[in-house]
Amino acid sequence: MRRSKNPKVIMVMGPPGSGKGTQAELLAEKFGFFQWETSSIVGGVIERAKKGDFVKIEGKKYFFEEQQKIRQKGLLWDGIFIFYFTKKKIEELAEEGKGIVMSGSPRTVAEGKALILLLKKLYGAKNIVMVVLKLTPKETLWRNSHRRECELATHSILYTKETEKLTRCPLDGSKLICRKDDNPEVIKTRLKRYQEETSPVFETFRKQGIRVKEINGEQSVVDVFSDILKAL
Ligand SMILES: [Zn+2]
Repeated sequence: MRRSKNPKVIMVMGPPGSGKGTQAELLAEKFGFFQWETSSIVGGVIERAKKGDFVKIEGKKYFFEEQQKIRQKGLLWDGIFIFYFTKKKIEELAEEGKGIVMSGSPRTVAEGKALILLLKKLYGAKNIVMVVLKLTPKETLWRNSHRRECELATHSILYTKETEKLTRCPLDGSKLICRKDDNPEVIKTRLKRYQEETSPVFETFRKQGIRVKEINGEQSVVDVFSDILKAL
């Protein structure tokens, strides 16, 4: 993997529908940083494992087959199990001199505390930035209830000024339809979880000497991106 010029860790946070994934993608592209995806990092390890393989963490055995089943049932992996592979991958990236862009991670203070110590040790506090995309609850609910996806590949299309008149997927041209799982109750639950569990992470990071920058998320994708670049 190519080394990054000035390896940093950028963490993009925001409520569902804030477009944090899109911004993370743009940042990773611009700086040549690694785009972090917890589920594909842990999932990749599990998929490559052979029958009967396990990993022993803090005295407990985790069999990959069982973890695969947990995933298939849509249940959550144990935090200790996730962190074990997170740590391995981050150490590998730091060793290669590669920057990292994360979106929506860490989700809780507990996850954040372990992660920040590791990142500070490997990258240094001054090279870590947390970017928080601010969206009013009203805007969050509006955007999520208007989110669409394409018929062919379920590409998610965020509701913004640029996309409101789209009728076809920009990537494959298939028709755009409303997302089935985006009913108001599901969205409210996700927003509540963000406010109660994820928001306190910002203060935890501030206390650890990390720059936490708030960005107006109710702008177009390109304007949000340009504000993020200024904040870095
Ligand atoms: Zn598509």
